[in-house]
Amino acid sequence: MKGLKGKNALITGATSGIGQAIAIRLAQEGCNIAINYRKSVEDVEDTEEMAMQKACGDIDNCGVKSLPVQGDVSKEEDIIRMVNTVVEQFGSIDLLINNAGIQTECSSHEIDTQDFDRVLSVNLRGAFLCARETIKHQLAQNRQGVIINISSVHEIIPRPMYVSYSISKGGMENLTKTLALEYAGRGIRVNAVAPGATITPINQDWVDNPEKKAVVESHIPMSRAGTSEEMAAAVAFLASDEAAYITGQTLFVDGGLTLYADFREAWSA
Ligand code: NAD
Repeated sequence: MKGLKGKNALITGATSGIGQAIAIRLAQEGCNIAINYRKSVEDVEDTEEMAMQKACGDIDNCGVKSLPVQGDVSKEEDIIRMVNTVVEQFGSIDLLINNAGIQTECSSHEIDTQDFDRVLSVNLRGAFLCARETIKHQLAQNRQGVIINISSVHEIIPRPMYVSYSISKGGMENLTKTLALEYAGRGIRVNAVAPGATITPINQDWVDNPEKKAVVESHIPMSRAGTSEEMAAAVAFLASDEAAYITGQTLFVDGGLTLYADFREAWSA
């Protein structure tokens, strides 16, 4: 896609699912990729380390540079270190993809405060702090920039039992719009991609269970879950110069989920 070759991208949570697919797609488009992963290198038992190494190998095979950067996006000091490392190694961050995300399931009246805070601090505060640190460099270098937040259909569909997740993605809509407006005149575009139900590890609960999967898919007008590659394609488009006049938008990539399948048939006179 136009304008991606040679760009430097930082993708948070890029060792699995949608983040990994975005890393590979942008590498195929000619971007150098900084892969953020959460766990420390010392945590040898963690499979994320292996996933990170595999992701770097996949990216190197595309003939671009890969850079693993450890960092927990709920920690401000990690974000500052991570962003500075990428700028030192690559020279700039042209594209920031705020993908890292978690969710916890619990009745809203029983949710533990720490669990609530944790989801907000990864999904929303972390996305903001990554954007803040990246924008500082983009402005200082007088460079054009693109920020893409990976939101969710739950940006607009309330999700009972997942109140912190719903709030985080609802907040992401305004984060996207506010930053887009604030920096539109300074060459920085900010958009969001909102996936519907997508086959990734975060959905392990239903992905490998045919009955549960059928229930999920019954709510999707196109009758199937999405793939990480389909999300990555939307990210590549918004990151490219093909989307040069688009800012402050959320692109829903959801097989029609936000059209509400239950209303397919006429339901009122
Ligand atoms: P995933 O669990 O495979 O990926 C999430 C990634 O975030 C993992 O790599 C994880 O290590 C990383 N991460 C978690 N906490 C982190 C932290 N503190 N610091 C750094 N990285 C951290 O799931 P996914 O489905 O690929 O999710 C990616 C994004 O897509 C999330 O923001 C999620 O909310 C969003 N999303 C997913 C779906 C879906 O159906 N899969 C739907 C809508 C939105």
